[in-house]
Amino acid sequence: MTNFSPSIEAALDAVAGHLSQARRALFITGAGISADSGLPTYRGVGGLYNSEATDEGLHIEEALSGDVFAVRPDITWKYLIQIEENCRGAKPNAAHRAIACLDQHLDRVMVFTQNVDGLHRAAGSCEIIEIHGNLQELMCTSCTHEEAAVDFRGREIPPLCPVCGAVLRPKVVLFGESLPEDELDRFIEALQEGFDIVFSIGTSNVFPYITQPVVFAAGSGIPTVEINPARTQLSEVVDYYLPLGAAEAMTAILDRLGIEIDPV
Ligand SMILES: [Zn+2]
Repeated sequence: MTNFSPSIEAALDAVAGHLSQARRALFITGAGISADSGLPTYRGVGGLYNSEATDEGLHIEEALSGDVFAVRPDITWKYLIQIEENCRGAKPNAAHRAIACLDQHLDRVMVFTQNVDGLHRAAGSCEIIEIHGNLQELMCTSCTHEEAAVDFRGREIPPLCPVCGAVLRPKVVLFGESLPEDELDRFIEALQEGFDIVFSIGTSNVFPYITQPVVFAAGSGIPTVEINPARTQLSEVVDYYLPLGAAEAMTAILDRLGIEIDPV
């Protein structure tokens, strides 16, 4: 077992104490939780892209926008494939698995993630909101056809619908597109029903829908925890800021609860 500094040990003890009393926990996660699975923590769609100009002279956020996809889906697909290649073969790490384990110990564990890598689903979490969608499901832009895509290897660009021939797209939220309304509604409903503890793990906190639930919980006296090696705008707001990687922090917390994290 890793030894941390006395202040971090004390914070881990306190967080474990709160979690042992909690019946309902919310985990808000971003690219940082997947860093321990080898995925880069870039900005962009699901935190997976740097803001550089592309070969086409477009800003990457334009290349990955709904507007460009509508007229040049081949450009958008080129970069979606690069993002998918980054995710390919990645496995859930101890942090994803720790959260999934908690399903057996609490009444409700909700995961609200910005990530499109599907690793919370792969870890087996029951209640997940993928607010930016995911890269593992494709849908037709014209008809109702949908299909699962383990990976994008060998696909023609852009991939076409086997039913009607229109362009397929992954169920991700492209830049300039609105967030999925039913998922947002589900999240707001859950927030209204309430949580006993709120975690923010590996998020860069650039979006208000990421920060606000944490700020609101902190203001309502609900224990709040941030796990992130680098400080963010939330670090001052939360009750417990843990400057640790997601996997080591979650492993240390579950150790204290005597919960063994299921192996992959
Ligand atoms: Zn179709």
